[in-house]
Amino acid sequence: MRMVFIGPPGAGKGTQAERLVKKYKMAHLSTGDMLRAARDAKTEVGLKAEQYMSTGALVPDDIIVAIIAERLQSADCREGYLLDGFPRTIAQAESLGKMLMAKGTPLDVVLELQVPEEELFRRLAGRGRADDNPEVIRQRLVAYRKQTEPLLDYYRKQGLLKSINGVGTVDEIFERAGLALEGS
Ligand code: AMP
Repeated sequence: MRMVFIGPPGAGKGTQAERLVKKYKMAHLSTGDMLRAARDAKTEVGLKAEQYMSTGALVPDDIIVAIIAERLQSADCREGYLLDGFPRTIAQAESLGKMLMAKGTPLDVVLELQVPEEELFRRLAGRGRADDNPEVIRQRLVAYRKQTEPLLDYYRKQGLLKSINGVGTVDEIFERAGLALEGS
């Protein structure tokens, strides 16, 4: 299965993604994890990305698209993959669409995890990552609303979008995800 997993920061995508990739034997492609690894290794891309990440802004599309284009060539992606945190803009989605069209491997499904804003703020404030201070959190939520939410309509129009309620226990949400995916 080739899927995109969309949800605001703090929605619990990472936790659910880890379980979904095991169940459906997909490669887990998290652009946030890739960028944090690049930052920690102090690569050129990592140092550039850090300037954006530290303020809660999105990293420029060209950087992210190049990273994903390379990653999608790996052997482990042949069986399917879960894109976690990518695409985050319409431009990224269009680039991905072109890449996949050229390979003849379109997406199967886009899963949205829905969590109300008050709940997100509460969860993010308890997480303790370097980009989790209140102002950065606020910026990340603004970036999500402005730049990423338009993707929901974009994928809805393509008939790919499934949305699930992201409030509940990890097991409850995982079950909802399974039901949504298996009905796709
Ligand atoms: P995440 O762990 O997915 O919340 O990503 C952490 C940070 O990495 C984000 O706040 C962005 O600065 C950056 N980032 C991750 N994925 C993307 C993407 N697809 N486009 C732009 N920036 C991204």
